[in-house]
Amino acid sequence: MRLVLRAVVCAILLSSCVSEGSHQVGLSDTSSIDAISPGWCDELPRVQYASLERIDVDSDWFEVWGVGEDVFALYEPKQWQEKVSYLILGTERALLFDTGMGISSISEVVKQLTDLPIVVLNSDTHPDHTGGNADFSSILAMDTDFTRERAAGYPNERVKGELAPEALCGPLSSDMVEDEYSIHAWSASQEVTDGYVIDLGGRELEIIGIPGHTPDSIALFDSDAGYLWTGDSFYEGTIWLFFPETDRDSYSTSVERLASLVPKLTLVLPAHNAPTADPIRLLELRDAFTSIQEGTLEGVLSEDGTIEYDAGEFRLLLAEK
Ligand SMILES: [Zn+2]
Repeated sequence: MRLVLRAVVCAILLSSCVSEGSHQVGLSDTSSIDAISPGWCDELPRVQYASLERIDVDSDWFEVWGVGEDVFALYEPKQWQEKVSYLILGTERALLFDTGMGISSISEVVKQLTDLPIVVLNSDTHPDHTGGNADFSSILAMDTDFTRERAAGYPNERVKGELAPEALCGPLSSDMVEDEYSIHAWSASQEVTDGYVIDLGGRELEIIGIPGHTPDSIALFDSDAGYLWTGDSFYEGTIWLFFPETDRDSYSTSVERLASLVPKLTLVLPAHNAPTADPIRLLELRDAFTSIQEGTLEGVLSEDGTIEYDAGEFRLLLAEK
């Protein structure tokens, strides 16, 4: 069980388990990271979904939920990451913000929701956000070396742990074979930076660069609607800030920036677990992270070198300094 769990953690930590760098989380065979909490599957559905409208689509993997005006959450509840990608409609085109795990075809679901041309953008380029990128030809990508590197995709050995029995809730999608699972390479059609505005026709979305979780982490801001998509920089769950590519000083600046937007927000739309959160959480995030940086919030250290800080509705998991 532990070995299986570790395999999953290693797959997610990507290089951490095979290369030893001083800045990396040093997982060992006796790692006690409970990356997949036992019984996660039994605790679904999450309460937030009760107030949302379920949209009927033909898929045995994705659930689609209406979460705002012309915004669909494409949720993967059968896999422990509970990835949430978003399809955001304008009048002339639609933006697909993240393309999911790549376990089942997201493009087949998108086709059922709109005929508009699709533009893809990733909230970061970890494998759970870029799984379906290769199916699309129009991809905006952040102008960072990290992004260009991650566009090569992820081979089976680095992601197969995502399909371990403990990682799944029910059977695999019929179009997926565990040994063939990988994140395919993709190419950007245009590089973009902080402040870039995507015009979907009747709807403008601004890219807010919020490096920290990864160098290419972004939020997406619809100022007319007051919607803010926060990617992996905020969600209700355990927020992962222990990667080699995580920079906590950058994250600190980024959470200040997110908090400064709160007066303009009506809804926060995160990349995992539940597709809706109260904007006030972003103030709680800033306060919690400030307390961590100042050493006034105590965390729990695990054998694997990570420290978990409990902030109420969410937790922050950092590498030991
Ligand atoms: Zn990520």
